Amino acid sequence: MKKKILVIEDNEQNLYLIRYILEKNGYEVAAATDGMAGIETAAAVRPDLILLDIQLPVMDGYTVARRLREDPRTAPIPIVAVTSYAMAGDREKALASGCTGYIEKPIDPETFLAQVEAHLPPVGGGDA
Ligand code: MN
Repeated sequence: MKKKILVIEDNEQNLYLIRYILEKNGYEVAAATDGMAGIETAAAVRPDLILLDIQLPVMDGYTVARRLREDPRTAPIPIVAVTSYAMAGDREKALASGCTGYIEKPIDPETFLAQVEAHLPPVGGGDA
């Protein structure tokens, strides 16, 4: 079964690039382009992993991460922040909000997949 990744990203070019890389490598991709839609889609789709932009319309990524952690349906899903914020403080803020990891923009197509897969739960778990 294909693993599902939810991408919450408002920038069309980034979303296009992320979707391209993931689909090319056999992942199923769901997308949302604002924070609130991201939360709703996460609860509906139950993805294996969430890639979360921090600068988002309607609700920023820090708030999105906190809300996802508060909801028992989405609490166990790994969340990887994908953001252009390069400051160490922002990385800490993302992790404090409940993100499990952090990928810096601009996205490097050579290393992006490995960075994502480092945060995916291992294949062959109990009910796989
Ligand atoms: Mn953005």
